[in-house]
Amino acid sequence: MPPPSTVAESLYWSYANLAMAHAALVQRANAYGRVQFMIRARLYKGLCTGTMNMGALADDERLKLVLPQACCYCGSREKLSVDHLIAKHRGGLDEGDNMVWSCRSCNSSKGAKDVLEWLRGRDQFPPLLLLRRYLKLAVRCCQERGMMGAPLHDGAIAELPFALALVPHQFPVPAELSLWVVPLDHGEAAL
Ligand SMILES: [Zn+2]
Repeated sequence: MPPPSTVAESLYWSYANLAMAHAALVQRANAYGRVQFMIRARLYKGLCTGTMNMGALADDERLKLVLPQACCYCGSREKLSVDHLIAKHRGGLDEGDNMVWSCRSCNSSKGAKDVLEWLRGRDQFPPLLLLRRYLKLAVRCCQERGMMGAPLHDGAIAELPFALALVPHQFPVPAELSLWVVPLDHGEAAL
């Protein structure tokens, strides 16, 4: 497969890899194999051709209702505040889909950084369900700005409120991934 050349391809390739990783985790696979690669290939093609959709943000909101109220970065239940996953000062929207729980310590450590940049600085791959929300928000933002078809060298990409260049295309092996910052039970993991 040629490397992604547009904003849409970059985001969809990341999302398709996320689905591959999610499937491997839920199926308790030790490595990515034929089944997971097929999930990735099928979803990527479907997203690019418009025959498949990313799940709705409503699914992620349901997860928020089901999970205990805790910092989505470290799991702490102390001194919680609301964090904008796509930073508000960069243009992230002030609405529920973009809001997650964060403890004061993570909030101040993250500061003005994009969440992907901040997590990378901590050598931490984002929990898959947090990344899922981030990618859905990123796609919605690009759709609203008419940027999905823009080539990756387009100067306007610098104006996007999220870190397109840091959206992962390489995922660690399943053993190094987590769905959420704290272990989920089976019902929650299926959301
Ligand atoms: Zn925290």
